[in-house]
Amino acid sequence: MDFFEPRINADNAPFWEGCKAHELRFQRCKRCGKVRWPAAYLCPECLSEDTEWVTLPNRGTLYSYVVMQKPFHPSLAEKVPYVIAEVDLAEGVRITTNMFDCDVSALKCGGEVAIDFLDSETYSRPIAIWKGASE
Ligand SMILES: [Zn+2]
Repeated sequence: MDFFEPRINADNAPFWEGCKAHELRFQRCKRCGKVRWPAAYLCPECLSEDTEWVTLPNRGTLYSYVVMQKPFHPSLAEKVPYVIAEVDLAEGVRITTNMFDCDVSALKCGGEVAIDFLDSETYSRPIAIWKGASE
């Protein structure tokens, strides 16, 4: 079974197109420079509609996480236990993503993660890969 599909709309479509190309693309306000996620019609800082898309590096730091002992969706049943991670990217963007096949006991907030992509026929989704604690 494939994962449940994201809800793709006019605002977030460029993000999902970037994922197909294995790039993290986010909106940046052309007035104030705020990079934002989730995608939105207006900048939450200055309410400008003037937006451009930028590509951020495929790496970040683990802000927080939970270990799921029961699957959120039937498609995740074989992944249990799996991690839902909050990852801080460059320019202040924080994304929620999955982290599979990692040693849960080794995870530490503030550690490094890389962002890879899990491809399916219709879309690709970002997946965090644990790179280790920076000590
Ligand atoms: Zn703005």
